[in-house]
Order: sequence, then C-alpha cells, then structure tokens
Amino acid sequence: MDFQPLLEEIAATLQPELGAQGRVADYIPALGRVPADRFGIALRTVDGEEAHAGDSTTGFSIQSISKLFSLTLGMRELGEALWDRIGREPSGNPFNSLVQLESEHGVPRNPFINAGAIAIADRLVSRLDAKAVTLELLSGLCGEQVAYDEEVAASEAATGFRNFALANFMKSFGRIDNAVSEVLDVYFHHCALRMSCLQLARATGYLCRDGRHPYGGAPVLTDRQARRVNALMLTCGTYDAAGEFAFRIGLPCKSGVGGGIVAVVPDRLTLCVWSPALEPSGNSLLGMKALEMFTARTGLSVF
Ligand code: GLU
Repeated sequence: MDFQPLLEEIAATLQPELGAQGRVADYIPALGRVPADRFGIALRTVDGEEAHAGDSTTGFSIQSISKLFSLTLGMRELGEALWDRIGREPSGNPFNSLVQLESEHGVPRNPFINAGAIAIADRLVSRLDAKAVTLELLSGLCGEQVAYDEEVAASEAATGFRNFALANFMKSFGRIDNAVSEVLDVYFHHCALRMSCLQLARATGYLCRDGRHPYGGAPVLTDRQARRVNALMLTCGTYDAAGEFAFRIGLPCKSGVGGGIVAVVPDRLTLCVWSPALEPSGNSLLGMKALEMFTARTGLSVF
C-alpha cells in the first residue's frame, strides 16, 4: 500500500479545520504559545517504508507520550517486579487524580497516569541515570539525537504542585524509594522530551515489531512485553477516552497534552499525528479525526 497520498489527503482534508476548535494546553507558557493551526502526520512500516505530511518534522512537546518510554525502560530494568507497585486497570479518573491512590494504598492504577509514571521514574532512579539513558534509548530508536526542552522541564517543575502531591502521597505509603525532587526531575524531563511525528513514528517501531529494534539493534522488549505495552495503550493510553478511541479508531494509542498521538498497528506500522488543539479529555482533536480517517480508509484495526 502506498501511504503517502493518503497522508497528504488527510492533511489536506483537515486543513480548513486547523485551529477552529479545541484548546491548546496552556498550563505552562511554552505549551500555550504553540500555534493551534499545526498539523503533522507520519508513519513507518515494518518494512521501513515511510510516509509523512504537514508539520511532520516539527518538534513538539511529547508530554505523556513519554510514559510509553518510561514504561519500556521500567519493563526492561525490572521485569515482572515492576508490577509490584503499579496496576493495569483504566482509572476512570483524571490523569493527575489523587483519589484512587488513597484507597489503593499508594499503588497507581496504571503506568500511563501521572502517578504510575512517577512510580516508574522512582524505580529507574534507583538503577540508572534515567535522564541520560532515556535520551540514549530514544536517539538510538529514531536514528537522530533527541533532546529535552529545558524551558518546558523547568516550567513543569515550577507549576507541578499536583505531581509533587502525588509523589509525596505515594512516598507516605512507602512506595517511593528516592527523594521526591530527584524522581520528579526525571518525570518532568520525560514530559519535556521534544520530538517530531516522524521521529516518534520511527522510535515506537519496536511496538509493531514484537519488541524488535526498528533499525536492527538489540531487542528493545520481549514480544510478550511489547504486546503488554500495546494492551495498556488500548485500555489506558488516551486519558478518559479509551472507549472512544477503541470505538472510533480501533488501535492502541498513547496521547499527550502537547497534541501528539502515537498509534500502533501490530505487525504493520506505527503512526504519529500531532495537532495542538485538544478536546476536553486532553487528546488532540484533529489527531483523533486524522486517525479515524486513516483506519476507515485503510481498514487497519486490531479488531
Ligand atoms: N506534564 C503533565 C503533568 O505532569 C502531563 C502531561 C500529559 O498528560 O500529557 O501534569
């Protein structure tokens, strides 16, 4: 299948709607000033074919998409022991909610809510130089140097009162081993990774290849681990809209409030779309529309 004309058609179809609806995340200035009328889309197949259209090579703040990579590193470092302190159920509450943490004794519901990613960051801090290892992993996965946006990281730290609350609350249950400031420094930097659609389509390639490295390097995950990441993306990857994503798009997805969404078609391809204006649950509004058009036109689905 030649995907290039399809991605161009999707970008052209959505062009008149860019910036017309939805809201760009503005809880920190560096996100709030991103123009709402941006749109990029990129994919890479298991055979290495690439297609991309629109602002597909523009770097953006990947925000919660980074939770995929934190989870990947956590699975690699800890294996099954990772699940001692993290669940696997959709939360049904906002991504930064404190509510369930109390009744569940400081164990976050899943790795894709803030508390879950913070708990993983803690376990990484105990084992490695998490900020450096993350950059090394991602740069190797997409074949280009990936960097943190230090302005975003600093703003996340200056305004992340709720994340401090989550980390301290988990620590009060004995579920965080390291200093909260050190753990959150890693978490905030992960949120502040800056990548483009094309880089993300390349870097997530191990998720459509049963864990194998997209460029032939050492395996990133085992096949079982990769399937589990996809399962968690499908059930927990898109804030409170996992049902809507399964219904309208039918693929495992992970979104971030920077407006990016990564989608996986197992054994076929990985796809990334970016458009900064969000719908109320925090997912890119036109990103969802683009993915829906893509799966409707190609018939690709995990169902
Ligand atoms: N950086 C945000 C926070 O920690 C999360 C962003 C996101 O969900 O994409 O509150």
